[in-house]
Amino acid sequence: MRYCESCKIYTLEENCPSCGKKTRGVGPARFSPQDPYGEYRRKLKKEEKYGKKEVENR
Ligand SMILES: [Zn+2]
Repeated sequence: MRYCESCKIYTLEENCPSCGKKTRGVGPARFSPQDPYGEYRRKLKKEEKYGKKEVENR
């Protein structure tokens, strides 16, 4: 999966089909905005790491 920062679109092409600029490779699905639970899972992970209370105080 690749991402064009100019158009803010995802594509599979190395060059953006819309503006022709080189796209940026984006990593695993956990960084995908299409994953509605990504944020939640990251929060859980933080809570595991720092303890729930501390995360809430941040
Ligand atoms: Zn583009």
